[in-house]
Amino acid sequence: MPIGRQYKRVAAEVGEVCRACGRDVDDVVLVAVSKTVDAVQVQQAVDAGAADFGENRPEQIVQKFEVYPQVKWHFIGNLQSRRIAEIVPCAHLIHSVYQEHHLAKIDAAAAGCGKTQDILLEVNVSGEQSKGGAAPEDVRALLRAACAFSHIRVCGLMTMAPQGDMRIAQECFSDLRKIRDELNASAALEGFEPLSELSMGMSEDWRCAIAEGATIVRIGRAIFSEDFA
Ligand SMILES: *Cc1c(COP(=O)(O)O)cnc(C)c1O
Repeated sequence: MPIGRQYKRVAAEVGEVCRACGRDVDDVVLVAVSKTVDAVQVQQAVDAGAADFGENRPEQIVQKFEVYPQVKWHFIGNLQSRRIAEIVPCAHLIHSVYQEHHLAKIDAAAAGCGKTQDILLEVNVSGEQSKGGAAPEDVRALLRAACAFSHIRVCGLMTMAPQGDMRIAQECFSDLRKIRDELNASAALEGFEPLSELSMGMSEDWRCAIAEGATIVRIGRAIFSEDFA
């Protein structure tokens, strides 16, 4: 199926899943993860109505942002200190912040281009060794640290669920939501804005993520791959 049709099909299904679990479709952003395709395929998704795209490599977000500055580019990949200054000017939202020493670099880069950088804190809910993200018990300290920077706004949390077992994925999403809600319960006391965003759910598990409260789903293969069932 052509990419435009696949995008439209996924977008329509996001709407259906939202209705089925009593959520407003406007509360869920579909990020088309274009990390495996080039600018031509991005164009097909743009033509089909995609307005948010995700990339996990600095050089890719920079290149594609130059070609398509009119859509929103989300950085979802592993952050490296020396690439932060390239990423910030392109990034609508950085999903993958979990190391405290990156905060000052993000703040400086954002100040340099006269913006406030929206970020999410990545949480390793499942505890899988191979995954990035802060341990759940460290998120509060990270949030406090981020709040000290005037060019950073923490909008919410992000996680990746282990693949292959929907029950485990669901627990992971539900736990991320609990972590967010616990932080928000002390937001007024601690003087930060309540966290509204939950970036969770990929091609295989996004339906479950929406049911558990995802406000952003990051979908790659279901849109851009020919052979994703
Ligand atoms: C690749 C990627 C996705 C999309 O994964 P699919 O399984 O292709 O939908 C989502 N989030 C992150 C962080 C990724 O690296």
